[in-house]
Amino acid sequence: MGDKISLVYEEEELLPISALQHLLFCERRAALILLEGLWQDNIFTAEGSVLHEQVHQIETESRGSLRIARGLWLRSLHLGLCGRADVVEFQRLADNAQRSTATTLPDVEGLWQPFPVEYKRGRLRNEVSFEIQLCAQALCLEEMLSIQVFAGALYYGKARRRLEVPFNHTIRDKVEVAAKRLHALVSSGITPTVRPQAKCRLCSLIDVCLPAAMSRRKDVPKYLKLAYSLEENAI
Ligand code: SF4
Repeated sequence: MGDKISLVYEEEELLPISALQHLLFCERRAALILLEGLWQDNIFTAEGSVLHEQVHQIETESRGSLRIARGLWLRSLHLGLCGRADVVEFQRLADNAQRSTATTLPDVEGLWQPFPVEYKRGRLRNEVSFEIQLCAQALCLEEMLSIQVFAGALYYGKARRRLEVPFNHTIRDKVEVAAKRLHALVSSGITPTVRPQAKCRLCSLIDVCLPAAMSRRKDVPKYLKLAYSLEENAI
């Protein structure tokens, strides 16, 4: 590994990697889930859960020079994140020149290069929040194994296609920023006020967040103030 990683957080302060995706979708959504303990499935999250359950059924599998681990627990004390990887594929290293990217595995010889794969429902698409979540898993692997992980992939269930994601500086920086924002949000203990947006209709929390009704409620104090001043000024 290059620079020494600073370990900023204690185990009990770790937050779920999956929360990064909620945060990037809407900070209020992340706060409702993490601070207020709300979670509601909609068609999108329900389909995603089924896909994840299938993925987590088998723990390990061998295919020639490939070892597949499902549901591996990951954590980073630097980012303050933890979670389970859908799949981490370990490819046996043919060239020892790349040993800084590989690790040993129990009960099997050789060096093995990890490659995280995150399962997503739906069609193939570029979604930065998915890439950030995947890269966060890679950074956990790097910290836990003291190696470098250069790429992973998003697997789209409906399309049955993989999208390879290189972990360059840009995406790594985005993970750092998102993890810090997530911890700041949780430390504040404050759920951001509602901001209705077009994507609310895709949000599984719409029925508990009530974006339309809650944004109207913000106008009530303004309305009362105005009504009171009108009354005071009335002749
Ligand atoms: S309904 Fe809209 S404002 Fe509320 S949490 Fe979801 S995306 Fe955010």
